[in-house]
Amino acid sequence: MQQNVESIQQDVEKACQISQRPIDSVTIICVTKSVDNETTKQVVDLGFSHLAENRMEKLLEKQAYLANYKTIKWHFIGNLQRRKVKTVINQIDYFHALDKISLAEEIQKRALSKIKCFVQVNVSGEMTKQGISPDDLLHFIKDLKDFDRIEVVGLMTMAPIDSNLDELSHYFNQLKKLQQEIASKNLDYAPCTELSMGMSQDFMPAIESGATFVRIGSRFFES
Ligand SMILES: *Cc1c(COP(=O)(O)O)cnc(C)c1O
Repeated sequence: MQQNVESIQQDVEKACQISQRPIDSVTIICVTKSVDNETTKQVVDLGFSHLAENRMEKLLEKQAYLANYKTIKWHFIGNLQRRKVKTVINQIDYFHALDKISLAEEIQKRALSKIKCFVQVNVSGEMTKQGISPDDLLHFIKDLKDFDRIEVVGLMTMAPIDSNLDELSHYFNQLKKLQQEIASKNLDYAPCTELSMGMSQDFMPAIESGATFVRIGSRFFES
């Protein structure tokens, strides 16, 4: 894993250089959904403190296993069923998949403090993808105004896996533009300063388009 980590860090640095951004403007989230507890611990021991899971059971299991590591920031990515909100929402630092008012209502009901949320946007219009369509986004953000347990820290997207570089840049730039548009409104409940975009295959173009959080899984663990 050490070698993979070094090559990821080099690529992140390279993308930052190309786009003239400071290296510390990008946070690497290690997506540990496909690996066991022990491997996840190794990632933390290598210095990565932002971890992401997409299943409630796995999240809770890993949190129990890593209970002594107080500095870990836990991210929940992917679909969260409404009935699981009450178990998950107070266990995490960031939620990356807010895309329905019904889900916001459940978070509002169950959260014990303000939750940092990314609104997930479906920039490509792929039917299979979760997320709000870009056309509906501003309206959706406006509708979140009365939810005082939700802080919209930024936008999140997933690009289609078969995208070429031009398409990737197009999708990521589009998310950046939407983020800036919302941020410029200076809404106290939606500062929207962050961009969660870029995975193993496409984190370099994502950083070049302004990603502040990249979610990398398989690149860490491939042999
Ligand atoms: C699995 C997953 C990732 C990481 O994908 P890799 O291709 O393994 O880097 C990132 N974001 C989401 C939402 C995921 O489900």
